[in-house]
Amino acid sequence: MRNKYLLENYRLKWDYHTHTVYSHGKGTIEDNVKAAVDKGLSAIAISDHGPGHLTYGIKRSAVAQMRADIEALKPKYPEIDIFLSVEANIVNHGNYLDVTKEEFGQYDFVNAGYHFGIPGGYMVRNWLYSHGIKTQGSAKRLMVKNTDMTVKALYENKIKILTHPGDKGPFDLGEIAKACEDTGTLMEINFWHHHLNVEEIAFCAEYDVRFVISSDAHHPSRVGNYEESLLAAIEAGLPISRIVNIEGA
Ligand SMILES: [Zn+2]
Ligand SMILES: [Zn+2]
Repeated sequence: MRNKYLLENYRLKWDYHTHTVYSHGKGTIEDNVKAAVDKGLSAIAISDHGPGHLTYGIKRSAVAQMRADIEALKPKYPEIDIFLSVEANIVNHGNYLDVTKEEFGQYDFVNAGYHFGIPGGYMVRNWLYSHGIKTQGSAKRLMVKNTDMTVKALYENKIKILTHPGDKGPFDLGEIAKACEDTGTLMEINFWHHHLNVEEIAFCAEYDVRFVISSDAHHPSRVGNYEESLLAAIEAGLPISRIVNIEGA
């Protein structure tokens, strides 16, 4: 396929969305760092699931240990920058995340996305919607609620990456892209979740937003994977210069 040849012209610079055993990834922080070094990345972030997730959120009490792990790895792997992040969960109350503003300082930066398994996030209705099960109440109303909490999370907090926008329920991507434009939040192209997909990339590109590719690796072997996401961006006609962590070879 012609696009496959195009890939040879590009490489991923860094991967700011990877998971470890601190949530439901399979590897340790060091496993992910080693994998990133092997792939020649200049930086990696550990971005495990926020503490509000009922089954696989990080324990708030573990964050200090995560930070200690990372500080201990820095002198061992001087060739790469290692950041502690979190994939906060978007919820419909408080500061609209399961990471409080007071907790932001524990992380080098905060990513956020919508997931099932979070009380206060319309989880049952979104799960049913995503599995094609019709419920009482319109999808339109659910979309308004989902979009409202996402946009509020973006304006209320300094979020670096909005992870897999449009995944796991109905969302108004126009409203969300506008909020990302206003707040300078990066919109993620995440092939693992198939969002943003080709159509969504093309749609969001109409807004003055920048994009990022993440592996969302839940296993060290997947750290730094970007090829499928980049192919989607190319298919969408997105100028590669708008993806902040891709550079020409
Ligand atoms: Zn996620
Ligand atoms: Zn993730």
